[in-house]
Amino acid sequence: MVSRRHFARGAAMVSICALTVGLVSQPAAADPKWAGPLTKEPVATGSGGAVATVDLEATRAGLSVLRKGGNAVDAAVAAAAVLGVTEPYSCGIGGGGFMMIYTAKDRKVHAIDHREKAPKAMQPDAFFEDGKVLPFDDARYSGRSVGVPGTVAGWEEALDRFGTKSLRQVLQPAISVARNGFEVDETFAEQTEDNREYFDDIPSSAKTFLDPDGTAPDVGSTFRNPELAKAYERIARYGAKGFYQGPIAEAMAKAVTNPPVSDDADHQWREGYMTTDDVKSYRADWREPTKVSYRGLDVYGMAPPSSGGSTVGEALNILEGYGLKWITREEALHYFLEASRYSFADRNAYVGDADFVDVPLQGLLSKDFAAERRALITGKAAGEVEPGDPWPHNGGGSGSGTPSVTLEKGTSTTHLTVADKHGNVVAYTFTIESTGGSGITVPGWGFLLNNELTDFNYDSTTHVNRVEGGKRPRSSMSPTIVLDHGKPKLAVGSPGGSTIITTVLQILVDRIDLGSSLPEAIAAPRATQRNGETTSAEQAWIDSPEAQALQERGHKFVDGGEIGAATGIEFLPGGKLLAAAEPERRGGGSAGVVRPW
Ligand code: GLU
Repeated sequence: MVSRRHFARGAAMVSICALTVGLVSQPAAADPKWAGPLTKEPVATGSGGAVATVDLEATRAGLSVLRKGGNAVDAAVAAAAVLGVTEPYSCGIGGGGFMMIYTAKDRKVHAIDHREKAPKAMQPDAFFEDGKVLPFDDARYSGRSVGVPGTVAGWEEALDRFGTKSLRQVLQPAISVARNGFEVDETFAEQTEDNREYFDDIPSSAKTFLDPDGTAPDVGSTFRNPELAKAYERIARYGAKGFYQGPIAEAMAKAVTNPPVSDDADHQWREGYMTTDDVKSYRADWREPTKVSYRGLDVYGMAPPSSGGSTVGEALNILEGYGLKWITREEALHYFLEASRYSFADRNAYVGDADFVDVPLQGLLSKDFAAERRALITGKAAGEVEPGDPWPHNGGGSGSGTPSVTLEKGTSTTHLTVADKHGNVVAYTFTIESTGGSGITVPGWGFLLNNELTDFNYDSTTHVNRVEGGKRPRSSMSPTIVLDHGKPKLAVGSPGGSTIITTVLQILVDRIDLGSSLPEAIAAPRATQRNGETTSAEQAWIDSPEAQALQERGHKFVDGGEIGAATGIEFLPGGKLLAAAEPERRGGGSAGVVRPW
């Protein structure tokens, strides 16, 4: 635990009333006073602060808060709340996440874990029936997969400790967007369509997300979510308590324990375990971020329950032993894939919620362990490899680890990156797990509940990442902040389930070693090797000349569809900022700066 200290809050208290009035009375995004970039651009360069998200409205909201004197934390929460409206299948108050915060005044990186927790009554065999584990969709579309949401607690904790504004203030742009609506794009329509046969079973989901005739909303139509606006208004009024106690909490527990299914539902929706006590007792936790040095830079990542920081960190440690700049691109990519492979073998075996199991984090991140793993790498693809033993490098302790394959699916989640004029930075990844979460919209409140508990190794009753009451499932989310002698150099993150780790790693390697700019690294074709015989890759990667050469080394690529949709900010010389969002995937994102000069 890091001690609680307030930064920047006191000084800004005086202006809070004025700001509140200003923000509350602002109409929706159309008001040019809080309009940031008026067009959706994936790259922006300038100064005074920057925001990169997957969505124009969210980037606008973040920039508006920065322009009104808010800091990076204020802007991140404002943007995140808008994403909860416009990207409701990827993130929101029904889910959880990890926020990394760099505070310029003391040059420290902090991390808030507000990932969902399993309800207390849950047992390791919760996803078994008649001795057999439930198929993924049966586990997912149910009350069973729902963890106690952490998002609102995380937002409040972040603002309390580091913000200059209240939840009430920063939720106003999102309330406007929820009430006044946003234009449906192809990604939103497709994601609705993909969930339609399940939303159709749950009247609250159908009412919120489908047209009255039961179809997905048309591209170009306006989507409004007045019930979500009402939920945000309640949170704005009462703070996180308004979410964790009272009617929203009661409605969530009821929807989980007794899924609100229609009489003519086509699927069986299993009940879950979440009680109002589980909801009321949820707390967000401050975690010590992971840190590795890489070519003179310090790379900070998310500690357990995420496997993001340890796995990106281990892979970087392995890669540091190669002069990636001086070898051919094809050879460098081979080492990137092999470093990913070995780190994933270790991640799969050893990482779970460190509040419940001993995770050899120090060992996993040690340079000596990386050297041991590197020594196993040859010029050929290794296929599936066994985990190593990080314990001797852990300064004590032992354990065998439980070798396992990567189970998690999903292309959901969202990542946003914010910097302010003071030099504070936020890298924030949050999620409801699968695209569309559990499929259950909380009746009356317009938001989807997560299916985060399918991130447990729920097919095992002994794995370090098995289900346990009160535990957080292992995550792959990898919000990352890179410092150069204590000053921000780069902040980045991505959605994409367990591919998040390899996407963030690839972006770092592309940017730091292989000569790509940040926008190029974010746009580049991707491959994700997670200790398998084959490597999932995008078609553009498979078609590249390097991939042809890599096949001669034994790499087998299979089409993995789109991988990731990252955003990031690079800190350029002279105080300039380069904000970059995914240009194509998922319809492309939006980057903006406070001042374009
Ligand atoms: N639930 C996943 C995790 O925490 C993220 C989901 C996704 O990106 O698809 O790692």
